[in-house]
Amino acid sequence: MSMAYFLFLGRLKDFLPHRQWEQSVVVEFRGRQSIKHLAESLGVPHPEMGQVVINGQEGSLNTITQDGDQIQIHAIPDGYPAEPRFLLDNHLGRLAAYLRMLGFDCLYRNDYSDEELAHVLQQEERILLSRDRRLLMRKVVTHGYCPRSLDSLEQLNEVVQRFDLAKRVVPFHRCLRCNHLLEPASKESVLERLEPLTKVYFDEFTRCPNCKQVYWKGSHFERMQGLVEKIRNAFS
Ligand SMILES: [Zn+2]
Repeated sequence: MSMAYFLFLGRLKDFLPHRQWEQSVVVEFRGRQSIKHLAESLGVPHPEMGQVVINGQEGSLNTITQDGDQIQIHAIPDGYPAEPRFLLDNHLGRLAAYLRMLGFDCLYRNDYSDEELAHVLQQEERILLSRDRRLLMRKVVTHGYCPRSLDSLEQLNEVVQRFDLAKRVVPFHRCLRCNHLLEPASKESVLERLEPLTKVYFDEFTRCPNCKQVYWKGSHFERMQGLVEKIRNAFS
């Protein structure tokens, strides 16, 4: 039996029990095992892991672990190299709506099979957001993040920070319900869908060409605008 010693740094500690936060975790293993495989066996999904240092030397997640290795794994740095597009696992519907409100392309359905998830991730190069660590550990997942909080607003803050989204925010141009881009709509064209007071007080409207949802700058809009400002201020 061989042994390796893993030290996880930064937000990777969130995946470990408290008592393992400041010390190396000992892993016993047999045969050829990658660092990635052993680290995931401790509960840390590979999309969260960044720089790997083995016995003081730069290594990688694919390096084969040797007996006695001292391994440090850093969290992946904040940011994302391309225009971020997301795929959200089925318990994150409110987070999807918040991200769409900020303008981000978010696929969300609460009935994706694992095969469909894998297909969409591969074809569309999307970032998987899921609280299911097993799902994040699947090979097909290149980019992903596990929201730590159960609160959707805190999750939003986490995701904005992790993928450095604040500078890319373009609010209120995407349908919160179906993710489609909105288009301007004349008052006449949406009149029959409006409440009496809305007809009186509002003149500017947008509509989703896909699901036909109509949007205007009512009280709901003001609340959301407050939230957008908060995000921009917190991360700029
Ligand atoms: Zn829509």
